[in-house]
Parts: sequence; C-alpha cells; structure tokens
Amino acid sequence: MLYLEKITIERVKNSRLPEIDFSNIPFGKIYTDHMFLADYNGGEWKNFRIVPYGYMQISPATPALHYGQSIFEGMKAIKDNAGNALVFRAHDNLNRMNISAERMCMPQIPEELFMESLRTLIDLDRNWIPTEEGSSLYIRPFMYSADEYIGIRPSENFTFQIILCPVGSYYSTPVKVKIETHYTRAVAGGTGYAKAGGNYGGAIYPAKLAQDKGYHQLVWTDGVEHKYIEESGTMNVMFVMDNTLITPALSDSILAGITRDSVLTLARHWGMKVEERKISVTELLAGLERGAVTEAFGAGTAATIAHIELIGYEGKDYHLPPVEKREFANKVYKELDAIKRATKPDPFGWITKM
Ligand SMILES: *Cc1c(COP(=O)(O)O)cnc(C)c1O
Repeated sequence: MLYLEKITIERVKNSRLPEIDFSNIPFGKIYTDHMFLADYNGGEWKNFRIVPYGYMQISPATPALHYGQSIFEGMKAIKDNAGNALVFRAHDNLNRMNISAERMCMPQIPEELFMESLRTLIDLDRNWIPTEEGSSLYIRPFMYSADEYIGIRPSENFTFQIILCPVGSYYSTPVKVKIETHYTRAVAGGTGYAKAGGNYGGAIYPAKLAQDKGYHQLVWTDGVEHKYIEESGTMNVMFVMDNTLITPALSDSILAGITRDSVLTLARHWGMKVEERKISVTELLAGLERGAVTEAFGAGTAATIAHIELIGYEGKDYHLPPVEKREFANKVYKELDAIKRATKPDPFGWITKM
C-alpha cells in the first residue's frame, strides 16, 4: 500500500477494446488502453501515473537512445474462470530487473512499486486479457535513462514504465537453428545476464544472416572459442541426451530465464536427472550422430517451449526426432500451462492473483 494511493489515473475517453479481433492478434502490435509510468529523480521514485497508452515526449539527448541505457522484462498473465488475472512469477521478473538495473547503473525498483503498479494497471485493463485458448496478456516493464545529456556517465533521471499487450496462442512450429561460430551475443564480463536493450540490437544482424540461409534462429556459443553452447535466439536452450536433461550452467553471458528455472524445477520434482553444466558443440554433435539427443528446445516466456527441429553446424544439418515423440518437453509444456492457468495446483508459489 506504499504506492497505491499515490498512483494517479487518467482514463481513456474511448476504449479501443471493441475494435480488437481477439481471434487474430499479431504478437507485439496491439497494446491495451493504458500504461504506467514513474519518474526517478533526486534519488527517489515519484509521479506514479497511469495514462492512456500513446506516444511520449522524451529528450532527443537521452542516453537511452544514444548509449542503450535501457532494460526490460517480459512476463505473462492469463485470466481464470472467476475473472482474476494470474501473473506467472512476477517477483522473479522484478528480481531479475533489479539485477539488470544494477549492471546498467540504474536505480532499484522497490517490490511494492513494481507489484502495486502492475496490479493497478492490470485491474484497469482487465478486459483486455484474452480468454481464447492459449492466449495471454504479455506484460512489458522497462526502464530507461531520462537524462538530457549526451556525455557518458551514470544517469540521474530515469523512467520506469509498464505496457501490456494481448497475445494470441503462440503455436510454435519447430525451429531450425544454426550454431553460430563467428558472431557473439555476450561475453564474460559483459551484459549478457542482463535484459539490456543493446544485447538484442546487436544480435539482429547475425540472426538475419542465419535466416537468409533458411534457419529461424541461432544457437549462440561462447565468445572466446565458439566451443560451448550458450542460448538459442532469445531463449535458454535445453537438451535431453541419454535420458538426462542438460542445459548450459548460468554465467554472466547467459540470461537466467524464469522458464528455464521452471522447467528445471519440474524436472527435478519428477525425479529426472538434470545437469547444468558446459556443453561443447563437439559433445552435442556426437550425441546427435549416435541418436542420444532425443529432444532439444528453447525455453522462454513467449513460447514457453520452442521445439528444435534441426541443428545446423558448418553446412551440415543434424535432425531431431519428431515432436510427438518428445516426451519430456511435451509433458513439461502441459504442466507449466496448467499451473499458469490454475487448472492444477501451484506447488512452488509461482502465481500472483491480481
Ligand atoms: C528473456 C530471455 C530469456 C528467457 O527468459 P524467460 O524469463 O524465461 O522469459 C532467455 N534468454 C535471453 C537472452 C532472454 O532475453
């Protein structure tokens, strides 16, 4: 209740909701009626406000535009039968946002501010949460420098903002991925573990080169030798090899995905053998050749599980078994979906009702 009574609300005059065709929502293009903003200056958060979603005024000299002083988060909510919004692991997203903030010399967001602004905004735009099978409300909190100064230094002014975006059923066709051996997403000592804007801008070009060759996305490898697997696109990557769930151990060049953690938690809960460790490209390819790699998938909020159909390396494609045969990935997808929709119990306390 620390911030709740301080949030001012300016409602839209006319909701855009009646115009939206919920049976056909493109990802990331439609936003709800309202957005939340808060300003940081003089060492504190202030001006908590919800206003109609729309264009904003920012200084042309803000370091957010020039030097990438910006961070973001991504999470999802669904609506249960009683009309409650169920938000998945919001506290974990906040923790991660604060880790990103520290790395980028930005202020921490207090838990009450994050949760209360989210609650107020979601409550106002509750009717925007799609109810169609598989659809959800994507929540995008972000923070950026609001200084007017093109020198490079820690900023003094920041804006914290939340926008909401209904998303349709993300039916993911299995993806073709290519192991990247030249470009690098993140390096030791860099910002790969933070959800910082620049990490993504720099990844678009190498991903496009792979797309021109017929792949959907890249499997990133370490920035020193390109010898060890790191992530897949903007998802964490996992393999079932010799009946063991294997994923790269976290490091400062790997983003600590909340889906990753959820999948590992469930696998351990089910008694499956789990290994978080280095996986070399050589080991993976050898595993694929001897048929020991029975599953490969990306894990992230957008799709939850993105099955990998084939893995390309230096011109050769290594195919994986058909998706129907992937017992673990299909089971974990179903279980996570049921927990998120509260059609199954939530043994790990992942759901916040709003
Ligand atoms: C956001 C992200 C992930 C997945 O994180 P989730 O919390 O599961 O959505 C993985 N890798 C990168 C690089 C990311 O930006």
